[in-house]
Amino acid sequence: FTASARPMLDPAGNFAGSVVVFSDVTELVNALAAKDEFVANVSHEFRTPLTSILGYVELILDDPNGLDPKYRKQLDIVRRNAERLLSLVSDLLAVRSGQIAIQPHPVDVSELVRGSVASAEPRAAKAHVRLSVDVPGTLHARVDSSRISQVLDNLVSNAIKYSPDGGDVVVSAWEDEDHVYCKVSDTGMGIPQDEQAGVFTKFFRADGVRNSTIPGVGLGLPISKAIVEAHGGSITLQSEPGQGTTFTVKVPA
Ligand code: ADP
Repeated sequence: FTASARPMLDPAGNFAGSVVVFSDVTELVNALAAKDEFVANVSHEFRTPLTSILGYVELILDDPNGLDPKYRKQLDIVRRNAERLLSLVSDLLAVRSGQIAIQPHPVDVSELVRGSVASAEPRAAKAHVRLSVDVPGTLHARVDSSRISQVLDNLVSNAIKYSPDGGDVVVSAWEDEDHVYCKVSDTGMGIPQDEQAGVFTKFFRADGVRNSTIPGVGLGLPISKAIVEAHGGSITLQSEPGQGTTFTVKVPA
């Protein structure tokens, strides 16, 4: 059940009583569970054919005489996208079970930040968003580099996606005694206070975004949160509608 209550006032504005509404949300809860189950089943079914596509593409690419060089580049794009799809499918399953596997190793986090920013630069230029980076020369931590890059890619991509023309995105990183921090700040549309808690829930999209043309499915932040938490870290946000948003990732060094 959910319950909500509001006061009733008489025409003179005096308190006259309260209306309390109890709603039976069993059906809604069941529908959400069914949606979850459906997504998990579909993800599972996608895995086998995708693995097969990827296997054959790699077989062709690995054969030095098997392919005209002019098709190699195109097929490499097919391979990368099949890999992305496969990793999305794995993430969908992992985020459902609440488990993301990480393999930490010594990493220069500054390098990861610079890499994410560099790969986002063409998108930022297209969206007329200024992208800048503020990191020390090196920043050592023991993290899973591809997973942390995935988090940074997602935060930077969101910052660009949810910023208007002429926006500014700044990506910074620093450390204290035992933690490393990465911060992605934008001057974009912001997230209303009452929706901020929801953004880490899977398939959540803010009200002003849901029916817009901005692409997205609402999985990036829940996956990012699961990755950061698998490192024993945390991800927080500060946001002011119309002013911008800052996401801060904190992981043990
Ligand atoms: P997606 O971007 O695919 O919708 P995410 O999980 O990455 O999914 O983000 C969830 C929601 O949080 C977005 O739909 C958007 O409403 C909000 N959001 C995330 N990042 C930002 C940002 N930098 N500025 C404004 N809103 C954001």
